[in-house]
Amino acid sequence: SYIWYQNELLPRQAVQISPDDRGYYFGDGLYEVFRVYHGVVFEAAGHFDRLERTAKALRIPLPFSRSVMEEKLQELIRLNDVQTGNIYLQITRGIAARSHPFPAYAEPVLMAYAYPYERPLEAMRHGISAVTGEDIRWLRCDLKTLNLLPNVMAKQEALDRGADEVILHRSGTVTECSASNVMIVKNGILRTHPANHLILHGITRYVVLGLARELGIPVIEEPFTLEALGQADEAFVTGTTVEITPIIRIDDRPVGNGAPGPIVQQLQTAFDTAISSR
Ligand code: PMP
Repeated sequence: SYIWYQNELLPRQAVQISPDDRGYYFGDGLYEVFRVYHGVVFEAAGHFDRLERTAKALRIPLPFSRSVMEEKLQELIRLNDVQTGNIYLQITRGIAARSHPFPAYAEPVLMAYAYPYERPLEAMRHGISAVTGEDIRWLRCDLKTLNLLPNVMAKQEALDRGADEVILHRSGTVTECSASNVMIVKNGILRTHPANHLILHGITRYVVLGLARELGIPVIEEPFTLEALGQADEAFVTGTTVEITPIIRIDDRPVGNGAPGPIVQQLQTAFDTAISSR
């Protein structure tokens, strides 16, 4: 398989990463995960907007223009013959001897690759289980940075407890999951945490809220509590790779009647149409 590394498209084994890369030392970098349907990047503009916003906040100059990046991603898709798949792209601040201040002369290091990845049909149809856990992350969760240790720890704890995902909360206020956004439905109303500094502004979250509005489902973007989560009729996660996946158990108690509910299924159907028509 091929990797886009700096200015080149190279076979994976030809890429060598420096031990002095600041991504390796400090997690000093950012990333994006793009979804590919029918050989085309889905919602590319939203992902590039977020990439640019994160780069600006971290003061990492982007090494390529958006149009060059889009072209290169399309080339990766073609080289690796991806119809349904993912693209991972990361950019670190660059290579320099280990020291906290930004290096005076460092060139950002970019790498990206594409790979086939099927839609998670089983999980979407039958739902997943979740546990709740404390959100111990920093206060800029809106930035898609490489520093994912709290997410990794929370996810592993969920798996160790026999669940598929963890729903994070700050002192009882539900934020998001370890690698997805979370939404609930109560009495026909869709609720999700507002897109502020406490959650990642998911592209799928944005798409799903748009579909909900088109379907006439009332949407409230306000924080909700663990108690509201426990009393929800429906709950589900949204994300680039998980799409719209129902949560049918939380902390060993069924959500609603313990099966994917009508609103989440309505949204899944609308999402299917959205990805097949673009
Ligand atoms: N929140 C977190 C913490 C994530 O890592 C992700 C991405 N997997 C999301 C939400 C969902 O964002 P998107 O829909 O853009 O994939």
